[in-house]
Amino acid sequence: MSLATFALGLAFGSFLNVCIYRMPRELSVIHPRSQCPKCRVAIHFYDNIPVLSWFILRGRCRNCQTRISPRYMAVELVTGLLFLVCYAHFGFTLATLKCCTFGFLVLGLIFTDAETQLLPDKLTLPGIGLGLLFSLLVPVNDLVSELLPGLITGPSPQVSWRLLSLLDSVAGMALGAAFIYGAGVIYLRARGVEGMGFGDVKLMAMVGAFLGVRLAIFTIFSASIAGSLFGLWTLFSVWMKRTQRRISRNHESVQLARRRAWQSASIALRYFPIPFGVFLGGMAMLAVFFGNRLLRWYWRSL
Ligand SMILES: [Zn+2]
Repeated sequence: MSLATFALGLAFGSFLNVCIYRMPRELSVIHPRSQCPKCRVAIHFYDNIPVLSWFILRGRCRNCQTRISPRYMAVELVTGLLFLVCYAHFGFTLATLKCCTFGFLVLGLIFTDAETQLLPDKLTLPGIGLGLLFSLLVPVNDLVSELLPGLITGPSPQVSWRLLSLLDSVAGMALGAAFIYGAGVIYLRARGVEGMGFGDVKLMAMVGAFLGVRLAIFTIFSASIAGSLFGLWTLFSVWMKRTQRRISRNHESVQLARRRAWQSASIALRYFPIPFGVFLGGMAMLAVFFGNRLLRWYWRSL
């Protein structure tokens, strides 16, 4: 069963690669069949085996020898592992189906954002719908369900938990989107450049619809920390590199080189797009498995 889950994940990962390449280019994900992006020769089914084919062909097209990005192999492998982890965590349940669906969408968005700085509506909008739909099948167990269980009573307990769960999902969607929209406005004021677009707003609406308010907020805060650390690390490494270059090439004194390199590095970074969707997506996946545990630990340590 585990092996079958892994194989299914590999197959979905293979399809996800098609989505990652074609969706930002506004191409159909169904037609035509997979082809080499360079020579346009259709890829044979035996060269399209997830992960294995990439290694057998040593990451090159069989026809024209163009390099094929290791991203293809990585996405397949990660999707396979993700399906496996969901199954190991939730067993043979609807929760596993929900987790795999969410992971599939999030991985697609992470890799698309990293490559193109785009978060396609074709993934986020159906994702929001699916998140709301899944709340009727798998309880979201968030604030609404905890705070107002007696307030809303349906004709039967079966109906009332679904109603509460749907409300949790809607609240998560609205708050997730509102938070990131607000953060985007603040960021724009503070730095004078756009840091977050509507893609991030829709991404967080999707994350909130799947995970509820609490984990959506957890995702936003942890992603901001991770994104800031990444920004600082980039700034620092660019500064070091430019200082070295100034010293060796322009024979500037260490102090002068450091100061000038700092100026140019901070200007360069201001316009360097930090792929925030990557951090939001990564932290949302973390939230699925560890979010509640981390939040409990945080409340206790306060
Ligand atoms: Zn080719």
